[in-house]
Amino acid sequence: MTSLPSSVDVAIIGAGAAGLGAAHALHGSGLSVIVLEARDRLGGRAWTVQASPEVTFDVGCGWLHSANKNSFVPIARQLNFEINTDLPPWGDRAFGDVFPEAERKDFVLALDAFYERVWEAAEKGTDAPAADYLEPGNRWNPMIDAVSTYVNGCELDQVSLLDFEAYEDTYFNWRVRAGYGTLIAAYGAPCPIALNCNVTLVDHSGKRIRLETSQGSLEAGAAIVTLPTDLIADEAIRFSPALPAKLDAARGLPLGVDDKVTLALEGAEAFPKEGNLRGATMRTAMGTYHIRPFGQPCIEGFFGGSFARELEDAGVGAMAAQSIDEIAGLLGNDIRRKLKPLYESRWAHDPFARGSYSHALPGHAGDRALLAAPVDGRMFFAGEATSPNFFTTAHGARDSGERAAREVVAILSKP
Ligand SMILES: Cc1cc2nc3c(=O)[nH]c(=O)nc-3n(C[C@H](O)[C@H](O)[C@H](O)COP(=O)(O)OP(=O)(O)OC[C@H]3O[C@@H](n4cnc5c(N)ncnc54)[C@H](O)[C@@H]3O)c2cc1C
Repeated sequence: MTSLPSSVDVAIIGAGAAGLGAAHALHGSGLSVIVLEARDRLGGRAWTVQASPEVTFDVGCGWLHSANKNSFVPIARQLNFEINTDLPPWGDRAFGDVFPEAERKDFVLALDAFYERVWEAAEKGTDAPAADYLEPGNRWNPMIDAVSTYVNGCELDQVSLLDFEAYEDTYFNWRVRAGYGTLIAAYGAPCPIALNCNVTLVDHSGKRIRLETSQGSLEAGAAIVTLPTDLIADEAIRFSPALPAKLDAARGLPLGVDDKVTLALEGAEAFPKEGNLRGATMRTAMGTYHIRPFGQPCIEGFFGGSFARELEDAGVGAMAAQSIDEIAGLLGNDIRRKLKPLYESRWAHDPFARGSYSHALPGHAGDRALLAAPVDGRMFFAGEATSPNFFTTAHGARDSGERAAREVVAILSKP
């Protein structure tokens, strides 16, 4: 950990994937840099924990989405992290009889037809809630909406059609055996970072930017802000003079909620490795389960949207209890005594995240570019929400940090 300097060329606010991407890109530029991080760890929404001696658990990001275009893949290789390319559990696999193959195929057809309608509508260029393109009365609508809660963190009525279509999915989804959070922490380790350093004010009224933090104040020639959108929108960090256009853009890109839980599984050998369990197919408020990720003796649950928010609000343990009830409903009551809660996330209640990842509200697809735009040639913005095509992801966040660093270098290196 680096102590707080009194003056730097560039202050980066936040040591998540975006802030670390910016710090790496500024290395060797000749500019002095400090990353200011409120937490006592780096990684932000990327965080791996050892949930038990046998279970490594990514509390936040876990998948190297669009892996063939994901900038963390070459970084993982360079840092000697083992990459796992097994197929993800979603898609066409399911464990047990609760969601038979014929039903799954029917669902996938309905989902594909929905995506096709969204694509055609987006081609016309007018925004609308993505929910408008659900086929009225289709039996699979609640489950299509559940998929939206997993990928967008919210239901389709809150999702901009144009933003949804702008996301680039190459359908390669890989993983890091040691955890995505572990990889990102290792990537950030060489960077100059002040931990436990909560930035409360960015005063850009003077010649140099003054930042007030929980560890005192410092001056900087430029600042790169990488905070999650809800923290900007709620003014958890204050700009002086105020930046109303940034607040508006952040409000157009609220964070949805996605949460994960891991349960220890006794007698795991009787269950398939990398299995998928999804049973309550006719409603949106349901979990989806990953059986024995990497062959570990556990089941991971994933919840999204308003259901995830409700479970968080119900208190610690509610998500694990819901998972056990739901799994017992699918596989029989005997499994209850084999499952033991190990760890669950609470991203909406996390004071330095306040949610999981951003989605553009209908009519706000353009807000990603507005949030990303520099101010006065000395305040720069990065973070997953500013990524044009890889928003919601860790690699999109990292790339956005690199983009902001290039903007800084282009401006600060001008005579
Ligand atoms: C449950 C879940 C599952 C996910 N799954 C995936 C996945 O499979 N694949 C994928 O690619 N992505 C996934 N994501 C998304 C991914 O984790 C994020 O998009 C990415 O990590 C965001 O990086 P960031 O740098 O933009 O923001 P953050 O990681 O949030 O970094 C911002 C940093 O700023 C710090 N901060 C906040 N306020 C202050 C302050 N006032 N002063 C100083 N520091 C401050 C925070 O502590 C944080 O460290 C998932 C996220 C969640 C929550």
